[in-house]
Amino acid sequence: MKIKNGDTVLIISGKDKNKSGKVVEVFPKDNKLMVENLNIVKKHVRPKKSGEKGQRVEVSRAMSASNVKLICPKCKKPTRIGYRLISGGREKKVRACKKCGQEI
Ligand SMILES: [Zn+2]
Repeated sequence: MKIKNGDTVLIISGKDKNKSGKVVEVFPKDNKLMVENLNIVKKHVRPKKSGEKGQRVEVSRAMSASNVKLICPKCKKPTRIGYRLISGGREKKVRACKKCGQEI
């Protein structure tokens, strides 16, 4: 999975289309991620004890990673992520922006 915690992403489909937010959690196994304050669903919480009232809380739900695009922190454009090898000592694979080519 190319997107990591803390990345800023643009939503490209669904009801939050064209909104952007920060990734707060990734689920590589499911190819899903959670974006702060986006893909909100209202959840009804049942009262735990008698006498308590049920509540409706808003929670972010994980969405498919294929519905988002990374916003490059360097050029601020939504981009695809490529990989680049950095040589020197040991070769290291880094993420790179397809638009500006900078390491991200
Ligand atoms: Zn860039």
